[in-house]
Amino acid sequence: MPIRLLDPKTVARIAAGEVVERPASVVKELVENAIDAGSRRIDVEIRGGGASLIRVTDDGCGIPLEDLPLAFTRHATSKLSSFDDLNTIGTLGFRGEALGSIASVADIEVTTATAGGISGSVLALRSGREDTIRPVARSCGTTISVSQLFREIPARLKFLKSDGTETGHIVTTVSNYALAYPEIRFRLTVDGRESLATSGNSKLRDAVAAILGRETSARMIDLSGNDGAFSINGLVSAPENSRANRTGMYFFVNRRWVRSQILSRAVEEGYRGLLTVGRYPIAIINLSLPPYDIDINIHPAKTEIKFREDGKVFEFVRRAVRSVLLGEAPVPVVPISP
Ligand code: ADP
Ligand code: MG
Repeated sequence: MPIRLLDPKTVARIAAGEVVERPASVVKELVENAIDAGSRRIDVEIRGGGASLIRVTDDGCGIPLEDLPLAFTRHATSKLSSFDDLNTIGTLGFRGEALGSIASVADIEVTTATAGGISGSVLALRSGREDTIRPVARSCGTTISVSQLFREIPARLKFLKSDGTETGHIVTTVSNYALAYPEIRFRLTVDGRESLATSGNSKLRDAVAAILGRETSARMIDLSGNDGAFSINGLVSAPENSRANRTGMYFFVNRRWVRSQILSRAVEEGYRGLLTVGRYPIAIINLSLPPYDIDINIHPAKTEIKFREDGKVFEFVRRAVRSVLLGEAPVPVVPISP
């Protein structure tokens, strides 16, 4: 075959594959946008494991009418203006890829209103083709509905698991954000039934109660520590409340949910000698590190994290967990050796 340039629609769909792997990835991107918009309430509604419908409603800042068409253009973002900004980024999004990617693999409708706007607006894209923007009445905030995910991409559609499995991934995703942001009131509705709801009262323990159960929450131990540059807080289980797997461990770095073997190992090391082999703690860990100590930009889904100094982070977390379990004083200030 001769070398040819791919048409833009194909290019967009291939790139979208990196961002939108399954319905839970759509939920993740929409919820992150709602958080970045300063929302106090976020409602997620799904049908058919998310493949039929995903709808996220927030009470955030809304999208100004003049920006609405741009929101669906790839690499269009209001959050980053230069590469240098990446070092100090305070928002969850910054690539400007999500809405454009979702629009290339699903039908999408946005209803939004800003505080200063005269009225709200609604814009729909079917198969990537834009409607005209119409005015609509609504309060400040945004609702994004994504339907018929992967309808035109049979290979992806086939790869989706059962509705139950896809729903499970979405529940996990929403739970992660609800734990990371106890000050936001989250609600998830699955096929018309409420599946989880947090109060948004800012208390981590209450968010844990809503997600992992009252009993578990009541028995967790407060964790906090600080060594100047690093700080940690969260809740950890007493050794007698262990689990048979690692599903009870949640890690948030600078309020972003991450997967990290370093952090899992650090927590497990903190429990060394206190748990029998094959048992794992429940732990909700918020770590706050200077932005230059981490690199979050290694994957489009942004759940993998790289630490500049693995060893230091490991030791900080291990110590914090250990000392709270042994009932010692808060983690002492550790001088940073040159
Ligand atoms: P990114 O989040 O990386 O900027 P997205 O494609 O997710 O890229 O969103 C594009 C832009 O659309 C955002 O930068 C933001 O300005 C706007 N936007 C998207 N969702 C919302 C929302 N729920 N509320 C307010 N603005 C939004
Ligand atoms: Mg985004």
